Amino acid sequence: MRPFQYERAASPARAVSSADAGSKYHAGGTTLIDLMKLDVWRPERLIDISALKEPRMTRIERNGKALRIGSMVTMAALAGDEGVRRSCPVLTDSLWLAASAQLRNMARLGGNVLQMTRCSYYRDTSYDQCNKRAPGSGCAALDGSNRHHAILGTSDACIATYPGDWAQALIALDAVVEILGKDGPKSVPFATLHRQPGNRPDVETTLAAGDLITAFVIPDADWARSKYLKIRDRESYAFALTSAAVALRMDGDAVSDVRIGLGGVATVPWRATAAEAVLKNAALSEDTAQQAAEAAFAGANTLEHNAYKVELGKRTLVRALMDTAGMEA
Ligand SMILES: Cc1cc2nc3c(=O)[nH]c(=O)nc-3n(C[C@H](O)[C@H](O)[C@H](O)COP(=O)(O)OP(=O)(O)OC[C@H]3O[C@@H](n4cnc5c(N)ncnc54)[C@H](O)[C@@H]3O)c2cc1C
Ligand code: SF4
Repeated sequence: MRPFQYERAASPARAVSSADAGSKYHAGGTTLIDLMKLDVWRPERLIDISALKEPRMTRIERNGKALRIGSMVTMAALAGDEGVRRSCPVLTDSLWLAASAQLRNMARLGGNVLQMTRCSYYRDTSYDQCNKRAPGSGCAALDGSNRHHAILGTSDACIATYPGDWAQALIALDAVVEILGKDGPKSVPFATLHRQPGNRPDVETTLAAGDLITAFVIPDADWARSKYLKIRDRESYAFALTSAAVALRMDGDAVSDVRIGLGGVATVPWRATAAEAVLKNAALSEDTAQQAAEAAFAGANTLEHNAYKVELGKRTLVRALMDTAGMEA
């Protein structure tokens, strides 16, 4: 690991004012320190925000249907919140199914949504070609091993999968991100936080230098009928091959409202709007769920090893919809 400066932030405002292009915030450190040890990230300075006690960053607050979750809340704390689990299980299930107990105790939700791809060419500096790590160098995954790579939102420059689980629930539920920036507080839709790779895969988010995520707001977190289904190589401690975050409101068999996020298949947290349009006001059945799944994956781009994700992704979504509705698939 290379030498770096370390400072512990005394307040959110101090953290933001001392941040610059060469610094990184340290929350739980489970992505950051990993990538520094691998020599993929080389920050000059770490600004440790893990001890910040600012209530708006550390609390889970309800206001009617709305939920405000501080960015310093641990994955474990939200996963274990019984009230949230009852009113909106997709928000807690997606965390229970992520990482390990140790990681969930350490990792904060702000860091969680900013975790990096698990593309092995990105994480291994012995590979020269990686446009995300070394802009303009090429992409080793295009002709290499791409079994875990994305089929939606890809570009000729990068096909890295966004690996997180919780983000799929956030994008499905129209979450808003509260940020403290150099010019003061601001809010952006979660759907605009991550950037598709295009020709600049090295630019992962729309955050400006020094932007500190303070909280996530879910304007309507009243989705008792919601679920996160994650398919992976082993049933514990593995990233999603495919996943679906589904929230449904039903009027009899008819779908009166539906939200869908897809994981493991796209370069960014993925909202399946075409699938939602198929289902809205339709009678839910295995047939309509299948039609929605076809719409969700209509734009998929596959390579040698990841074509299986189209069929697996469709089956994941169909099963998630049927399970959430309490119907047999
Ligand atoms: C072995 C392993 C298995 C895993 N499995 C899964 C899994 O199955 N599913 C899953 O979803 N995740 C998984 N993860 C990822 C894990 O969830 C993330 O590493 C963790 O959530 C990151 O949170 P952190 O607090 O440790 O972030 P850090 O490592 O501290 O930070 C991550 C990034 O976010 C930035 N950052 C942190 N907080 C803020 C903030 N408030 N504002 C602005 N920037 C900020 C940091 O500067 C850094 O760039 C796994 C990780 C490991 C190591
Ligand atoms: S898929 Fe993206 S992260 Fe992986 S090698 Fe290609 S450019 Fe790098």
